[in-house]
Amino acid sequence: MPAETRSESRIQCARCGFVNPPEARNHCRRCGAHLRIACRHCGHGNLRIAEHCSVCGHELHRNFWQRVSNWTLRRFGRTGSLVFLGLAVVVVAWGVYYAIRAHERLRTPAPKADKPTPEEIARKYQYRR
Ligand SMILES: [Zn+2]
Ligand SMILES: [Zn+2]
Repeated sequence: MPAETRSESRIQCARCGFVNPPEARNHCRRCGAHLRIACRHCGHGNLRIAEHCSVCGHELHRNFWQRVSNWTLRRFGRTGSLVFLGLAVVVVAWGVYYAIRAHERLRTPAPKADKPTPEEIARKYQYRR
């Protein structure tokens, strides 16, 4: 199969998508990411873009959220993991909110302090009298 040989010799980066020449054995030429991943089941070195081990078919990557929820489920149980995930969502939302506010503060210059000039103060004082 020509397509198969081509994908084996040229290694696509799982992080940035750059197609590396066959000489780039382990690291992406563009971003430096690992191009290979060892199967946790049999230890075979697979390409990182592959989803399953080419020898034993074991899943190489799991969905990030799946991994997080599995971890919390093991650690805190069902109710605990819901609480944990809820807290995580709140923390993330809080972080995003503050990041946006900080960003906006950087972008828009702070409004000038509404301090009246000495002349204005004097005028006001005279009018009041
Ligand atoms: Zn890369
Ligand atoms: Zn394997």
